[in-house]
Amino acid sequence: MKETILKITNLHAEINGIKILNGVNLEINAGEVHAIMGPNGSGKSTLAKIIAGHPAYEIISGQIELYDQDITTMDPEIRAHLGIFLAFQYPIEIPGVSNADFLRLAYNARKKAMNGEELDPLSFFELVSKKLDVVGMDSKFLARNVNEGFSGGEKKRNEILQMALLDTNLAILDETDSGLDIDALKVIANGINTLAHPKNSIVLITHYQRLLNYIKPDFVHIMQAGEIKYTGDAELAHKLEESGYELIDSSNELILN
Ligand code: ADP
Ligand code: MG
Repeated sequence: MKETILKITNLHAEINGIKILNGVNLEINAGEVHAIMGPNGSGKSTLAKIIAGHPAYEIISGQIELYDQDITTMDPEIRAHLGIFLAFQYPIEIPGVSNADFLRLAYNARKKAMNGEELDPLSFFELVSKKLDVVGMDSKFLARNVNEGFSGGEKKRNEILQMALLDTNLAILDETDSGLDIDALKVIANGINTLAHPKNSIVLITHYQRLLNYIKPDFVHIMQAGEIKYTGDAELAHKLEESGYELIDSSNELILN
């Protein structure tokens, strides 16, 4: 039997008193790639941030388990140490902190949590230099401040570089494809494919199916009004591209044409 990495059961959550998630159920096993699609405002980013432990959201009921451990109320840094990684839809800039220092601190924190070997700046530079190729990034981005003045595409590459370094168990990539031209999209998709392995799992949150031309998901979920309304295979993404989200009727049935 496949190892279950993430299990979400009947999750309800709100922010500032506004209900956003209305009973999400989701199970993700090792080795699987899941895509979460859905219209703007359906709660995709909210779900991603809640899995990562964002403190602004309040969980009203339901449960999130990682490897059978209840993480519903755990702090975000503990979740990160356990191998959850979130690539943000809108990566933040951190003025005054060099990308190299930031990446090394994140890397060493994760290694420490795994009882692994922490690296000094020189050894880390050797390691990160190899990983830069995964995302097609120039080493000059290491000396710059985190995301400061990076283009949209450069920020997205930097997120995947973090994923490559952190050896994550569950990587959630929120609209990593947005703002990328087709060449950058191919490089990043290729990078993500090389990071996928039988022991980890990847969740691709995307509005468009074009990323899924390059990374084939095992499951495609459609989120609407804070719920996962329908789950299908890779073919579902193509149908959505043609028909839009009206594909699902009011009783949550897929309307096939
Ligand atoms: P998606 O990523 O699917 O586009 P989001 O998860 O970003 O959707 O947002 C889901 C809904 O929650 C939207 O209606 C959005 O306006 C609302 N929302 C998100 N964050 C907040 C917030 N801080 N305060 C109020 N409403 C919010
Ligand atoms: Mg979003």
